[in-house]
Amino acid sequence: MPPRRKPAPAPAGGLLDWSHSSHFHRDARPCRSCGGMTHLRDDHGHPSHKVCAEAEFAMVVDVARRYASQERL
Ligand SMILES: [Zn+2]
Repeated sequence: MPPRRKPAPAPAGGLLDWSHSSHFHRDARPCRSCGGMTHLRDDHGHPSHKVCAEAEFAMVVDVARRYASQERL
């Protein structure tokens, strides 16, 4: 059986680094999470508020940790 991968570490302080200009777009679009308008884009180019992306990331990390602690990954 291959070794299990550990969940990706959360960014320091749970905050994503969106300082690169690629995260800003001149056109506002609805956030994929809350539907509010935003000029920001996630790492995949989808419209998202930074706080919404951080909340999603925190939830994913939490789920991965829970599964890992139960040895389901
Ligand atoms: Zn949002």
